[in-house]
Amino acid sequence: MQYTNVLLRDWKAWKALGVRSISAPNGYHTSASLDTAMAIGGYASAMDPAEPVVVHMVRNPNQPGLSRKDQNRAGRADMLATPFETIEREIRAQLQRMLGAGGFDARRDILAITVNRWPHGYAYTYDTLGDPDMPDAQRPHVIGRRPLGRIAIANADAGAAAFTNVAIDEAERAVQECLVSRGLT
Ligand SMILES: Cc1cc2nc3c(=O)[nH]c(=O)nc-3n(C[C@H](O)[C@H](O)[C@H](O)COP(=O)(O)OP(=O)(O)OC[C@H]3O[C@@H](n4cnc5c(N)ncnc54)[C@H](O)[C@@H]3O)c2cc1C
Repeated sequence: MQYTNVLLRDWKAWKALGVRSISAPNGYHTSASLDTAMAIGGYASAMDPAEPVVVHMVRNPNQPGLSRKDQNRAGRADMLATPFETIEREIRAQLQRMLGAGGFDARRDILAITVNRWPHGYAYTYDTLGDPDMPDAQRPHVIGRRPLGRIAIANADAGAAAFTNVAIDEAERAVQECLVSRGLT
């Protein structure tokens, strides 16, 4: 997975086209959306189309036809091998095609780009198509998180899901295992 953030000078073209989110199933990035509008504490989103805004774009370099694990590997290799210049060119061309009719000019309107490639960090989640059905106790992540002496294993991988709540649950389990191993519960 790749999360790309593009700072735009304004969002007049989005306003002119009447859109806040665009899906492009065959595009380099498969979606582009304006930041979710919100007002929390002292922070408020750009309410005026003349104000700068961050556009969030998502890319999944999948390879349809391969198994999910092989698609993960291919996507990881793709992200690691692609230079920033290529990604920047794709972003500029794609936003121009999406928003040009609304008056957008990539050269004038794009102020900054950050690309967060996420090649190794996405904890693997099993699926019913490509992974064998087996009792949880036999799953690789359950075997891999067994305590080793006084060492307990936390983290999202130990729960086979790439989410913060899973990392917190696994940390709680690991702490409990440490307490048990030291006779403290
Ligand atoms: C771009 C992005 C978007 C995400 N969006 C969401 C979301 O919307 N919702 C959601 O629930 N989850 C989201 N996640 C996933 C979530 O952030 C992770 O699943 C979670 O942070 C995993 O927690 P963790 O404790 O397992 O690992 P991490 O958060 O990776 O923590 C590991 C820590 O160990 C440290 N470390 C590594 N090696 C050493 C060492 N040798 N010595 C000491 N310290 C070390 C690292 O610096 C790091 O601080 C997102 C992740 C990314 C990258």
